[in-house]
Amino acid sequence: MYNFVFGVGFFANQVVDKLMEFGVRVDGMLKLKEFYMPIFIEPNKYVNTYCVEDLKKLDPNLTNIIIAQKPIIMGDTISYLKNRGFKNVFIVDEEMQRVNIHTLKEFNCYLYPVNMEKPFLNYLEMNIVDNCNLNCKGCAHFSNIFDNGYVSLDSFTRDLIMLSSKFELYYFRLLGGEPLLHPNIIELVKIARKILKNTKIIIVTNGLLINKLNNDVLKAFAENNITICISVYKPTLNILDNIISKLEYFGINYILNDDYMASKKSIESFSTRLTASQNNNAFESSRKCLGRFCRFLRDGKISKCYYPLLIDVLNRKMGTNFVLSAEDYVEIKNITDGWLAIEQLSKPIPFCNYCSEDEFEFNWEGYHKNDLDVYQYILKK
Ligand code: SF4
Ligand code: SF4
Repeated sequence: MYNFVFGVGFFANQVVDKLMEFGVRVDGMLKLKEFYMPIFIEPNKYVNTYCVEDLKKLDPNLTNIIIAQKPIIMGDTISYLKNRGFKNVFIVDEEMQRVNIHTLKEFNCYLYPVNMEKPFLNYLEMNIVDNCNLNCKGCAHFSNIFDNGYVSLDSFTRDLIMLSSKFELYYFRLLGGEPLLHPNIIELVKIARKILKNTKIIIVTNGLLINKLNNDVLKAFAENNITICISVYKPTLNILDNIISKLEYFGINYILNDDYMASKKSIESFSTRLTASQNNNAFESSRKCLGRFCRFLRDGKISKCYYPLLIDVLNRKMGTNFVLSAEDYVEIKNITDGWLAIEQLSKPIPFCNYCSEDEFEFNWEGYHKNDLDVYQYILKK
């Protein structure tokens, strides 16, 4: 058997080094030719990096592929491997980066075998609450202009049952708005864990409410194997050590700013590509856009990113006229071939025409409820 590690960043290099240290032969590192990521590609000191498309003679039946990429970006990799008939595919859990691994047996605890028979959805986000307690100016989910609202347990259950019947879901992020404002958060995580037994479930929060949560909520997070991802803004940074102590006391796994290796720094800026014009180049905008990986679930629909299924609030609050088309999302109940649905969501969607190739960046500012300034500014573009 051949062994290839899919990935070219720091994490993939770490995986190659570990495997070699444990006496496992690695035949190379792989990447997709056209894949756009603004990251520094590090050459490995032991093995070469290849574009997988160039390795035409690689026999899928005689090759193990070990994916060492962030869950959010591995979708194109999995689709490619599926189309070429690879079956021996494994994902390395990025949590591995934070632990000291001394043996191959320990390493194997972080390997997740991918069932290539079932459509594999690598990443999905969902607002469980629309409003937020921090109200950042220009929030990408429009949380500072949303009225109070949260998903009902019935519709949450219905969507998850439908979803799990069509896909194997690897990484599921519950966010908002501020998800910890949900009045039935305990029931919600229990439902999610019951339906999505093998999925990594992550609550993405600004962290400000963690110290105020009652112990039953924290116990439910620990018991249901929920990871807390803290988006560290300035007010969070001030109390971050207390938040971390509390999570550690309850045995809850956590990440800072989406990165297992992140240092304690606050997010200083936001960016967006959204404009009011439909005359942008959807292909180029989405090719460069990191939002293209943020598949988003709402009311039984999945879209390529958060904008199409949340844009209604901007239309209502600002009188804009963003128009959705049927190709901007898929209805889960209508999906007959999950792999095809994933492919549709991987391509640019008509809504991407509203986004520009260049990003507009602005400073982070909190506590701006119903402030339309940034939106007004970007929509003039
Ligand atoms: S913390 Fe800020 S960016 Fe995050 S959901 Fe709330 S308003 Fe949006
Ligand atoms: S609509 Fe397209 S280009 Fe705009 S943020 Fe979403 S994926 Fe990116």
